[in-house]
Amino acid sequence: MIPRTTAGLFWGCLGGMWLTVAACGQSFQLPTANHALFEPGGGEKFFVGTTGRTWESGTFGGVRSGGYQLHEGLDIRCLTRDKRGEPTDPILASADGTVAYINRKPSLSNYGNYIILRHRIDGIEVYTTYAHLGKVRDDLREGLTVNAGETIAIMGRTANTGEGISKDRAHLHFEIGLLLNDRFAGWYRANQPGQRNDHGNWNGQNLRGLDPRLIFLEQQQEGARFSLTTFIRTQTELCRVQVRDSHFPWLTRYPTLILRNPVAEREGIAGYEIAFNYVGVPYQMIPRAQSELKSKASVHLLSVNAAEEQKNPCGKLVAQRRGTWELTATGQRLISLITY
Ligand SMILES: [Zn+2]
Repeated sequence: MIPRTTAGLFWGCLGGMWLTVAACGQSFQLPTANHALFEPGGGEKFFVGTTGRTWESGTFGGVRSGGYQLHEGLDIRCLTRDKRGEPTDPILASADGTVAYINRKPSLSNYGNYIILRHRIDGIEVYTTYAHLGKVRDDLREGLTVNAGETIAIMGRTANTGEGISKDRAHLHFEIGLLLNDRFAGWYRANQPGQRNDHGNWNGQNLRGLDPRLIFLEQQQEGARFSLTTFIRTQTELCRVQVRDSHFPWLTRYPTLILRNPVAEREGIAGYEIAFNYVGVPYQMIPRAQSELKSKASVHLLSVNAAEEQKNPCGKLVAQRRGTWELTATGQRLISLITY
């Protein structure tokens, strides 16, 4: 366990314990040579907006369709091009990790060619996604270990969408995310019958994004004190849901997000209270005893932070009907997937 206080970290880092030093250093590196994110007013140089829109539409969140469409990553501008104007920026692993998935068939995804890396940072299993790639490194295979800063691909503009990506908008779409369920493929078959899933568990629906810009900036500001766990635990709450389920994969995958509750520890756990941010990241779970459960329903919406819903409606997880907040079909699907 890494000490959490500043003094503790100070001694931990000075104690010559290299593992500790590495663990409390920066967690993620920028995935290309474009570092304008850290320059004052560098947004224009770092991000690429959607066609006809300003650079802000290339950032994370509800930045499209008047705030109603969620963009779960960053669109990072290309720096170098070949004679034909095609991007040539090397794409770099953002942290030490292993290759989780490679899609080399651009026609099978709106991400085009893409790579997903698996990392363990601050005790959290976290994934980075690199999309619209040109060339994926030939020797890259699932399971292969990669080091932070290692070249894994060359930037491109692949995508299976009709409009495609124009040369002037060439960019890397980069995500940092958490995996909702390692039984996704089965859930998808059961819940979206007849629909194709070419990517098994590595379907974009199974990864929930964290805002990489906030992570990079907080890391830079806090240095060794940055903690990914704290970053996730301190998300802004959109809503709170109670489920009558005490064993689901998210609990075992992300145990550091579970809070303690002596009542449930004493009486036995009958369900969980889950806090979601606007993207749908279940960032906090509280075990609940039978005596504490608020409803007999298997899924029950406990509360909604209306100000957050108004500020960030793009996740579309909750909606008001006749003055009462309800989970939307999207919200219900998310809970069904988490608890599958
Ligand atoms: Zn994008």
